[in-house]
Amino acid sequence: MSKENQRDVIVNRLKSKGLRVTPQRFAVYANLCSRRDHPTVEQILKDLNQDFPISSQATVYTSLQALRKVGLVKEVLLEEGVSRYDANVEPHHHFHCRQCGSIKDVPWDTFDSFNLEHLPYLAESYEVTIRGLCDRCTGNN
Ligand SMILES: [Zn+2]
Ligand SMILES: [Zn+2]
Repeated sequence: MSKENQRDVIVNRLKSKGLRVTPQRFAVYANLCSRRDHPTVEQILKDLNQDFPISSQATVYTSLQALRKVGLVKEVLLEEGVSRYDANVEPHHHFHCRQCGSIKDVPWDTFDSFNLEHLPYLAESYEVTIRGLCDRCTGNN
């Protein structure tokens, strides 16, 4: 995709959700769409400030909340007290490496579906977190 098309795609997605396109929202969402590593606010901020040092942690956080509210971004909580963010909002699972902390997407259809009817609750959604060692940490890359 050319840079120009990518810009349009991102602007259109923000607009389609009724979000006003601000430079901060655009920059945060574009950054998140360009990576697959489930960054924290600090990691997004560090990336953005290399290009145009106008962002603060608060503006990145506020933009993320706006994007999350309309369903463009998902918060991923795999470690206690650490919020990570994901532009992949399709159903998927996660793999979390216990050594380097990296988080990878695991396709939804990797597993047969669970039967949620056995639960005494009104179950609406679920996702699986698999823990272990990634291919880099086992040396099998
Ligand atoms: Zn690892
Ligand atoms: Zn993910």
